[in-house]
Amino acid sequence: MAGGEVELAQSAVPGGDTIFGKILRKEIPAKFVYEDEQCVAFHDVNPQAPTHILVIPRKPIVQLSKAEDEDEQLLGHLLVAARKVAAQEGLDKTGFRLVINDGKNGCQSVYHLHIHILGGRQLGWPPG
Ligand code: AMP
Repeated sequence: MAGGEVELAQSAVPGGDTIFGKILRKEIPAKFVYEDEQCVAFHDVNPQAPTHILVIPRKPIVQLSKAEDEDEQLLGHLLVAARKVAAQEGLDKTGFRLVINDGKNGCQSVYHLHIHILGGRQLGWPPG
């Protein structure tokens, strides 16, 4: 993530509608690479790897730390969906990474829970 994006993420504030809400309501076009009754997946507009896909719940959970215990099934479902999308994209053969950014220090910029699926190249560790 470039410096400007870190600043953008750190100035983002939770609350209200988000760009992902608009995508879910089809007010902003996005090609879903996967969808089911609980979540959708689409390519990140600013990819950080050859494959960079976001999995988001239809339920507007603001961020992981604001999820409720009653969201346990949905949170598990998102991981299963991410596994399916990774396999669909051929990433299961080489490996991939899932990321959930939470809040300011986590550099979250869109306050609608999402899992990043990153793959298609050798990723470094630790992250910045
Ligand atoms: P995060 O920083 O974890 O909140 O990630 C938000 C991600 O959403 C970033 O990687 C953005 O590039 C991505 N993003 C923002 N707007 C869009 C959009 N309209 N379509 C697809 N991805 C988007």
